[in-house]
Amino acid sequence: MTLPACPKCDENYTYVDGSLLICPMCSHEWEQGENTDSTPIIKDAVGNVLSDGDSVTIIKDLKVKGSTTSIKVGTKVKSIRLIYDAPDDHDVDCKIDGFGAMKLKSSVVKKA
Ligand SMILES: [Zn+2]
Repeated sequence: MTLPACPKCDENYTYVDGSLLICPMCSHEWEQGENTDSTPIIKDAVGNVLSDGDSVTIIKDLKVKGSTTSIKVGTKVKSIRLIYDAPDDHDVDCKIDGFGAMKLKSSVVKKA
């Protein structure tokens, strides 16, 4: 991890102390900013940021493995749960009426 330069004096001697970043050159202390990768963001098909518990709408027909029916456009899904380290982009964990629990790609949903 590369530490940011001091925002006050612009020197590059920053070190970490707990949750703070400290510059030994001018003694400035500050919190690590949002531009660290600690909080990944999952966005829906149109760029809204999703959070746990959101309701979403399916934006395209989805075939379901082992089923002859598919999930239709416009299906509402309540209380999604996000999976931030999903290995295959199926980062929305949810339960769909008539289909049960499943994982969807965030690119096929839109925040309701
Ligand atoms: Zn400094």
